[in-house]
Amino acid sequence: MRDSPIRLGISRCLLGDEVRFDGGHKQDQFLTDVLGRYVEWVPVCPEVEAGLGTPREPMRLVGNPWRPRLMTITSNRDHTGAIETMIEGRLGSLHDLSGFVFKKGSPSCGLERVPMYTEQGTPNHSCSGIFSQAFRDRFPLIPIEDEGRLYDSTLRENFIERVFCYRRFQDLMLYGVTKQALIRFHTIHKYLLLSHSQSHYEGMGRLVGQADRYRPKELVVKYGNLFMKTLALKSTARKHVNVLHHLVGSFTSRLKAHEKAELLGVIDDYHRGLTPLIVPLTLIKHYVRVFDVDSIRDQVYLNPHPKELMLRNHV
Ligand code: SF4
Repeated sequence: MRDSPIRLGISRCLLGDEVRFDGGHKQDQFLTDVLGRYVEWVPVCPEVEAGLGTPREPMRLVGNPWRPRLMTITSNRDHTGAIETMIEGRLGSLHDLSGFVFKKGSPSCGLERVPMYTEQGTPNHSCSGIFSQAFRDRFPLIPIEDEGRLYDSTLRENFIERVFCYRRFQDLMLYGVTKQALIRFHTIHKYLLLSHSQSHYEGMGRLVGQADRYRPKELVVKYGNLFMKTLALKSTARKHVNVLHHLVGSFTSRLKAHEKAELLGVIDDYHRGLTPLIVPLTLIKHYVRVFDVDSIRDQVYLNPHPKELMLRNHV
């Protein structure tokens, strides 16, 4: 990966900036104090950048989910045009982000289930905030999540995994996609992809195998779509256990009987929910190091994100 920091967009109030309608903020300590050590935040407050000022009258989405309008609640002023102008001018500068964390529930930033109201003020639908929807439409591959969902350790681990994977994919695109580079990229992600979906991994393998049939740009788009779609599929303990057994298979002949029994026992403990994923993985990584197992040493699955984040201690 490039040395330059990973750039992640973020709803600015989550960094502790006092930009909310009431003059307050919604600082998220995990994002600022923990994840912030590994990424460069690119703060965006759509409402402030649209010139609406702080504090400001609270707003909500009105109309229908296909064309929501951003209206002030009391004075009924329509700020949709101001937000749309801001979006038009700002999105282009966000093309190189490797992810975005949005503030949940906001009519501008909320990713989903933002309440919508009729002209008369009755809630009738829910949809995405105007800015987050525009971001998603423009950059469908960039991993996005709302801050509320990041309290779930599985979703948190998955989001950060996708961020680091997407950054590697951006690097691949930056340095030029040759068939060899794509094969190498696909190979090092093998077990990570398998932990999400075997059938998707196999489909991607077929695409890579037929790389000569496509123009390079077309190939990258097809592969990128499948890659990010696969990583967004939920991993389960069963899928991880399959991957762990595959990994063990690559050095099992070199284990003594008691070592093998211990390792399989630890994997079984993980399967039964008695230990987190980090436990069998640590033991497997130990043997990969000791036996210098070429075939899996470079697998992203072994180290998908900085260990200091301790994400696999909780899944
Ligand atoms: S939720 Fe979005 S629009 Fe609202 S204060 Fe935070 S960054 Fe600004």
